[in-house]
Amino acid sequence: MELNLETEIDRSRMRVSEQVAIRIEDMNKWYGTFHVLRDINLTVRRGERIVIAGPSGSGKSTMIRCINRLEEHQAGKIVVDGIELSSDLKNIDKVRSEVGMVFQHFNLFPHLTILENCTLAPIWVREIPRREAIETAMHFLEKVKIPEQANKYPGQLSGGQQQRVAIARSLCMKPRIMLFDEPTSALDPEMIKEVLDTMIELAEEGMTMLCVTHEMGFAQAVANRVIFMDQGQIVEENNPHDFFNNPQSERTRLFLSQIL
Ligand code: ADP
Ligand code: MG
Repeated sequence: MELNLETEIDRSRMRVSEQVAIRIEDMNKWYGTFHVLRDINLTVRRGERIVIAGPSGSGKSTMIRCINRLEEHQAGKIVVDGIELSSDLKNIDKVRSEVGMVFQHFNLFPHLTILENCTLAPIWVREIPRREAIETAMHFLEKVKIPEQANKYPGQLSGGQQQRVAIARSLCMKPRIMLFDEPTSALDPEMIKEVLDTMIELAEEGMTMLCVTHEMGFAQAVANRVIFMDQGQIVEENNPHDFFNNPQSERTRLFLSQIL
């Protein structure tokens, strides 16, 4: 299969540590009576890049939203950075600051400038001095290659630029884990690459990443594991080469035949 990314990927830099970043054990979740996640087991090591694939409605968003507790699970265990997610509010704040999340629809504050979007949480949640927050924000805006947009408003930027701001904004909280939920699905094709390039750079720097995405070129280039979900279950899990070339389950084969 052809790789659509021009970026030269330096896999040697993408080391996976022995340390566990996220551990999910026999996790189940219901929305009312609807059993949305079934017996999820997943261990993510520090530095791992995991791509989560699967048909619409299979529970991908719900699963990653459980990891930063935007959703609550009802059974089993989720441990993030050594902290078990429970109804203990103090722990949840700590987890939220360790875990960054980027959504399909950017979710920037439209009435704040790009710079203000990036400094708001560091100043008000992390209580970082304004000057330092601005310095950090400019550092990450440079990293995603749009420092010149700092004083504009989100509506003045392209979709690809807004998504790069959303990534920079997350990074300003200095997370140790980044969750991406279809970050390129709302973008025009010509903007997808600029966002994927930013994600690749993060991967090369050793960020632990869980990415729900249909960008299979990205999965092949960057992921060390691909997880396939269907009907609330992890159906298959493999390295990208075997996942694409030798899928084990019929459901995975069917899914791949539809998207590739
Ligand atoms: P995916 O991200 O794989 O498309 P989701 O996690 O968004 O799947 O949704 C999984 C299932 O749960 C779908 O059937 C969806 O309709 C349902 N669902 C999602 N969010 C809610 C909610 N807040 N309340 C009830 N059902 C929901
Ligand atoms: Mg989803």
